This record gives sequence, structure tokens and C-alpha cells, in this order.
Amino acid sequence: MARYTGAVCKLCRREGKKLFLKGERCYTGKCAFDRRSYAPGQHGQSRKKNSEYGLQLRAKQQARRYYGIQEGQFYKYFLMAEHQKGMTGENLLRICESRLDNVAYLLGWASSRAEARQLTTHGHYLVNGNKVDIPSYLLKAGDVVSISEKSRDSEKIKAVLEANGARPVPEWLDKSEDMSAKIVKLPDREQIEVPVEEHLIVEFYSK
Ligand code: SF4
Repeated sequence: MARYTGAVCKLCRREGKKLFLKGERCYTGKCAFDRRSYAPGQHGQSRKKNSEYGLQLRAKQQARRYYGIQEGQFYKYFLMAEHQKGMTGENLLRICESRLDNVAYLLGWASSRAEARQLTTHGHYLVNGNKVDIPSYLLKAGDVVSISEKSRDSEKIKAVLEANGARPVPEWLDKSEDMSAKIVKLPDREQIEVPVEEHLIVEFYSK
């Protein structure tokens, strides 16, 4: 499974906005973007006017980085979104939202999407009672996700739940006290918090 292994805070500085990729740290004074809100590198502080193409590229990169998805996979999601009914951009974000790692993060079962990805590959989460260790697994309405019985005793999982378990959960997820949650329905656009203009992503891939 390919994943970005560079310095993640540079991604926020490159995109000119906080992408919240490091869990708790993003909300503290240690946030690199809060301390240096200009792009990394020698010319990071020079003012640049983005072209139309530049804006489209940045929107695509921001969405990818927000969810931690590699280019090839993201383009596959775009092709899937194009074949679905409705607005392609909205479909694309809905597909990204329905990934198991994203849902685990939204439920407060990880402090960041990157951590949710790691915990997924370690087999801590179940879908409809079966272990699923594929972070990109796409959930659908009616699916029930849970933390496996064995993992509930793990110190790591206990610490993660202690730190993140009380976070507000989006309406499209029905979270229970018993460390499980049902996907009530896949989210509408207004229930998706990713800070990008998805029409720019569609324009980028439609050239
Ligand atoms: Fe981005 Fe979080 Fe790093 Fe701040 S701490 S720059 S929000 S990843």
C-alpha cells in the first residue's frame, strides 16, 4: 500500500491551509502552519498569483492530502464518481468519506486519518462482524463498523478512545456506546467538512 512518507506539516504549508493531518498537535501551539503560514522552501514567502490551472491543481492536491490518498487511487475514485448519478465532484467526496479509515477517524477511533489507516491495517476494526484491514475499503449505507473484541483491551486503542472518543460525530454515522456504529446513509455535501471546491477538481480531470 503506497503512502506519503514525507513531512506532513509541509503539506499544510504548501496548500496554505490547515489540513489537520497530525491529530492533537494540530490544535496546539506546536502546529507548524500556525507558526509559519507560508509555503516551505526558498521561495515560500514570495507572493504568487495562481493561474486557473494552478487553482484546480491545488484543489485536487488538497483533497488528496486531506484524505491521505495517492494520485492513482484518487483518479480511480474520480472515474467511479463520473459513472454515478448526480454531481461528479460531490460523488467524489462522498466516495472518499466512505473509506473505512476516514469513518474510523470521524468516529473518534483514531486521532488522525493517518493513524486510522495504520490501525486499520493492524486489524482493529470490523465491518459487519468481519475483520477488514484495508483502509480504502468503501462502506455503504447499512454497514456496521466496530472495534474488535480483542482490540478493546489494547492499551493503544484505550488511549486513542480516551483522547478522541468524545469528539462530535457527523449525523450520517449512528455511533453506539458499545464501540460500534452504523452507516445510516452516505453523506450529503453539506455533511462533508473537507475545505475544497470540488468543481475545481472535476475541471482539473476534465481537461
Ligand atoms: Fe497541518 Fe496539523 Fe501540522 Fe498544523 S500540526 S501544519 S494542521 S498537520
